[in-house]
Amino acid sequence: MNNYDLVIIGAGPTGLFATFLAGLRDINSITLEALDYTGGQIPELYPEKMVYDVQGIPKINAMELRDKMYEQAKLFDGEIKLGAKVTDIIPNNDQYIIEVNGTKEYNCKAILICTGIGDFTPRKIGCPGEDEFKGKGVEYNVKDITKFKGMTVAIVGGGDSALDYANELAGTAKKVYVIHHNDKFKAAEKTLDMAMKNPHISLIMNTSINAIKGDSQIREISMINSNDKTTQDIKVDALIIAIGHVGKANVFKSVNIETSKNGRSIMVDNEYQTNLKGIFSVGDAATVAGEPIHPLIAVDGGNAYIAINFIKKYLTPTATIFGGHSSSLNLK
Ligand SMILES: Cc1cc2nc3c(=O)[nH]c(=O)nc-3n(C[C@H](O)[C@H](O)[C@H](O)COP(=O)(O)OP(=O)(O)OC[C@H]3O[C@@H](n4cnc5c(N)ncnc54)[C@H](O)[C@@H]3O)c2cc1C
Repeated sequence: MNNYDLVIIGAGPTGLFATFLAGLRDINSITLEALDYTGGQIPELYPEKMVYDVQGIPKINAMELRDKMYEQAKLFDGEIKLGAKVTDIIPNNDQYIIEVNGTKEYNCKAILICTGIGDFTPRKIGCPGEDEFKGKGVEYNVKDITKFKGMTVAIVGGGDSALDYANELAGTAKKVYVIHHNDKFKAAEKTLDMAMKNPHISLIMNTSINAIKGDSQIREISMINSNDKTTQDIKVDALIIAIGHVGKANVFKSVNIETSKNGRSIMVDNEYQTNLKGIFSVGDAATVAGEPIHPLIAVDGGNAYIAINFIKKYLTPTATIFGGHSSSLNLK
């Protein structure tokens, strides 16, 4: 079994930045990622989108940002293992054994859980045909806009994801319908404004889908208006269901890590330590004293900085918490 001072679980934006920071603070670490690629929610949920709220980067494609975060994570040769799902954490005196894909693989002194929203699955609308046409026109995200070229596309949802997808697809798809179950959109004002002004987008409000029909492919959706109960069918080539995800914090059976009441977030203190000594958590996975989380890359990154500094102090009690400025380094 290999020994590390720190095992970082998850290589989403937070785990990648933590990997870099561990290197910056000379912590002997390995980062374990369940998927075969890094970046967490980015490649899964919004690879084609632009990101505007990372300090110092006015505008960047999400996958390009992921690639830059990976490059930064590797600056100190941080070890990242892909396809490595942590299935259990087993206490071992003052240390922990990490079980990966069912096999005990590593021994470590500290753990940083950066598992984001954990095992997340897209929320379903739950109408007839949804499962039958999944992958045959029914999608839960947009990974490649060009796939929808010339199509008539319906998008279900009223939040940022649904309206962002609508704006992105409007130039490529022939026609885009956004179907929302009430009359209040939750998307950012600018996003909504853009969608409302786009002649290729029709917003259908107070409406739910009650059936998805087709043959070998989706062909049609049936909808019902919640106010007057009128029904209408529209012909579509694709249906994108963008009504959020259901997340669940990872449960590691040999340790009892305290989670929030809804079980979605790991509870941490101001040093990002859980109720268990040596087990820390940060990023979308964690909530400080049950406070609402700010699921944003920049916020998660800042918190990861603080967490790694406290982990350094935990591993080396004589170390200072603040590790100095990176600008003092003279890297190649
Ligand atoms: C549509 C959309 C648009 C967004 N746009 C922005 C934006 O413009 N700006 C912004 O700042 N933020 C944005 N976000 C939010 C941002 O993506 C998240 O805040 C960020 O991804 C959180 O990073 P994380 O590493 O904490 O978690 P995640 O990205 O969820 O990554 C967690 C990683 O842990 C891995 N993992 C989970 N369990 C295990 C396990 N047991 N073993 C090993 N690995 C495991 C997962 O596979 C995953 O790779 C957006 C999110 C969405 C959904």
